[in-house]
Amino acid sequence: PTYSPAPDRYDNGMKYRCCGKSGILLPEISLGLWHNFGDINTFANSLSMAHYAFDKGITHFDLANNYGPSYGSAEETFGMIMKKSFMPYRDELFISTKAGHEMWPGPYGDWGSRKSLMSSLNQSLKRMNLDYVDIFYTHRYDPNTPLEETLQTLVDIVRQGKALYIGISKYPKDKAELAYKYLEERDVHCLLYQGRYNLFNREPEEEGILRQAKENGTGFIAFSPLAQGLLTDRYLNGIPENSRIAKGGFLKKEALTEEVLSKIQALNALAIRRGQTLAEMALAWILKDDLVTSVIIGASSVGQLADNLRAMENTAFSAEELESIYQIVK
Ligand code: NDP
Repeated sequence: PTYSPAPDRYDNGMKYRCCGKSGILLPEISLGLWHNFGDINTFANSLSMAHYAFDKGITHFDLANNYGPSYGSAEETFGMIMKKSFMPYRDELFISTKAGHEMWPGPYGDWGSRKSLMSSLNQSLKRMNLDYVDIFYTHRYDPNTPLEETLQTLVDIVRQGKALYIGISKYPKDKAELAYKYLEERDVHCLLYQGRYNLFNREPEEEGILRQAKENGTGFIAFSPLAQGLLTDRYLNGIPENSRIAKGGFLKKEALTEEVLSKIQALNALAIRRGQTLAEMALAWILKDDLVTSVIIGASSVGQLADNLRAMENTAFSAEELESIYQIVK
């Protein structure tokens, strides 16, 4: 059966925020395809999650060259979803990809050279069955490539029409400052800064990355807002078999120390008092003020997606609640 999206998808609770100084609105909750969309995953589940997301007003899908596993396979899955379902709705979608982490063997399959970024984006477009992406990111700062080389490549990618906007991810603050300036001077505004931000990692706030982005008219989009699943009820009673820790990826068993577990338990109790799940509260906390444009969630099921979307129903925190949260996570 061919897919037809929910007619009420823009009238069903999703909220959109203006992305820095730009004409782009992004959904408060975006979907990331780092995990659960690779060739090791069931296509039917990936497809259901993509459909569900779009049906709920999630217009932004976040990818990168090497998401999977295997490398490239999340983009291939997304390419299949495009072909099967989303192609008629291409103009309703805001699709990202990135390059800068290990992708293919040899000296050009990693980091931030012009050679690497250009080749990687060409590959990504093929895998995703797209003519262009909405935003292309330099995935991380490369200390061995002149920053100007990486940034000029972004400018040229926009000029070539292969990306409408560009962004930077995980750049140290001083390099981000240089990037904002370099790009602005070439009339290619940096649309987004993508950084890790969650209750267990408040660096963007503490280091002033959030404020800096705002001052430069750049939106901030948070990744791993649930600390890869730690900030949910997933690990309250041990390590479930199908969980990210059990599957053995970037989230290690060692991360779940007694201390972390007791923080999760305390946060969970607080969330319940607010009438939210811990996942909902963790996302709501990021969305509580306007320094963040969107949170990119990961999900392994439609049920998790549904839970996470409910975060938008209450993003207000009392001073007491915030104080209790900060006491717990400190
Ligand atoms: P999250 O912190 O949202 O973690 C997602 C995981 O949390 C899920 O896979 C699931 O784990 C668990 N989870 C999600 N919702 C719930 C729920 N309601 N209840 C219980 N458990 C839940 O995000 P990710 O770490 O996946 O990162 C999100 C996206 O950010 C990525 O897909 C990617 O697009 C982007 N990203 C960007 C990076 C960069 O360098 N720029 C780096 C990392 C991510 P389980 O699988 O165990 O069910």
